[in-house]
Amino acid sequence: MTIHRVESRAAAADMRGNYWHEGVADHVPRPRDLKSAYDVVIVGGGYSGLSVASGLAEQGASVLLIEQHGIGFGASSRNGGMVGPSFHGLGLAGLTKAYGDTKARQILAMGVEAVDYCEDLLSKPDMDCDLRMSGRFRGARTEADHHAMIGECERLGAAVGLRYEIVQPSDIHLHTGSRAYVGGILYPRDGGLHPKKLANTLATRAEVNGATLLTQMPATSIHRDASGFLVRTPGEDFRARQVVIATNGYSDSRMAELHRRIVPIDVAVSATRHLGEERVRAMSPGLQMHGESGRIFIWSRPSPDHTRFIFGGRIASKSAPPDVQRAQIAAAVGRLFPDLIADDFQHVWHGKIAYTTDHSPHIAQDDGLWLIGGYCGSGVTRSLYFADKLVRKMTGQPGSATPLDDIEFPVVPFRSFAPFAARTLTRYYALRDRLDRLRKPI
Ligand SMILES: Cc1cc2nc3c(=O)[nH]c(=O)nc-3n(C[C@H](O)[C@H](O)[C@H](O)COP(=O)(O)OP(=O)(O)OC[C@H]3O[C@@H](n4cnc5c(N)ncnc54)[C@H](O)[C@@H]3O)c2cc1C
Repeated sequence: MTIHRVESRAAAADMRGNYWHEGVADHVPRPRDLKSAYDVVIVGGGYSGLSVASGLAEQGASVLLIEQHGIGFGASSRNGGMVGPSFHGLGLAGLTKAYGDTKARQILAMGVEAVDYCEDLLSKPDMDCDLRMSGRFRGARTEADHHAMIGECERLGAAVGLRYEIVQPSDIHLHTGSRAYVGGILYPRDGGLHPKKLANTLATRAEVNGATLLTQMPATSIHRDASGFLVRTPGEDFRARQVVIATNGYSDSRMAELHRRIVPIDVAVSATRHLGEERVRAMSPGLQMHGESGRIFIWSRPSPDHTRFIFGGRIASKSAPPDVQRAQIAAAVGRLFPDLIADDFQHVWHGKIAYTTDHSPHIAQDDGLWLIGGYCGSGVTRSLYFADKLVRKMTGQPGSATPLDDIEFPVVPFRSFAPFAARTLTRYYALRDRLDRLRKPI
């Protein structure tokens, strides 16, 4: 128990500064008698675990979800809350080369389908998460980037019906107050939500459907035997016929099967002080989500109450003192909005994005042990969509297939060096972005 309290203090420190917690209480699980055996035990209380718990319980399974800290402790209460048709890091050409034309189109079509699924789910009356499909403006940092973005949109439009509008230089001001761009694309099927409210509302839905949520309790190991699984915790142990590991970027060696397949990448996020709606609208006239071209980029968005701006990306180093981080953020964001100063960045926090070596999210199974995750930074939409697919697979419902089903969830080679390799690669990509901008526009 002593170890458990130390973990909780460290967890509280890790969450300090997170704007999404302001004015939104932690979800307190309903008190329920714990049983010694369940149909399914789920490890991880983020969007994936909560959605799977909810769906399985709705189908009549007895479900226990174990979360080591509070509900949404991982990426699910730290993210940007941006919803959209996440495509694939390889793009249409890369996917076609890797998997052939038909599969490439199916994978990309899934991105469009996932948004429809999410919008439908999150529009249900019990879903309280401030969803607003206001669109996303993606700025082009160079003319070459703009050409490339338009080309990719045309290909995706033809292949899977992606909806987009080309933003010419003269219209940039309709979407952003930043002068950093030479053009852009508007994605009307994107939007934003409040991440912590989403975690809370999924938790409530899971409990209403009958799942039991156990928080502040790490799963320390999973053992397989003839009758199923034994999931160990520092408190009680639980038997289960099936187990779902949904620990994603917060996996460690205790959840080795998923940990071996995920590269966690630290991302900094900052919410400004209260700027007021007028100033926020000057930064984003349509109250839209913002992204930009480049290998290493900054994303940004208005807060759901339209009074602050939120920025994220590789904009601050987690190990630096808070005032240094604010200065780092001001320096990075100054490229977009030079009038923001270090003191404006009131809230600063960090989160771990779960990457995979093939840039794909995955569901995998080994005889009753299920893995889900690896959304590569686009997990708000993908986690809900993939959780629905996983529930369908586990309960034998139709509509469970995804075009990724026959693609192996690859193990990361030399996993213990992966975070170091990811940091090195990020620096290399940032350098290539700088070199690209120094080149003459085409
Ligand atoms: C900074 C940041 C910004 C992002 N922005 C966006 C965005 O704008 N749009 C978008 O689509 N996606 C975004 N993402 C990605 C998205 O947040 C994630 O993909 C999504 O939240 C993943 O949910 P999850 O449930 O799979 O994992 P998580 O939310 O990370 O949940 C995993 C949980 O497992 C728990 N856990 C780990 N080990 C154990 C154990 N042994 N026992 C019990 N519990 C355990 C952890 O405490 C954690 O709560 C962002 C991510 C980050 C980090």
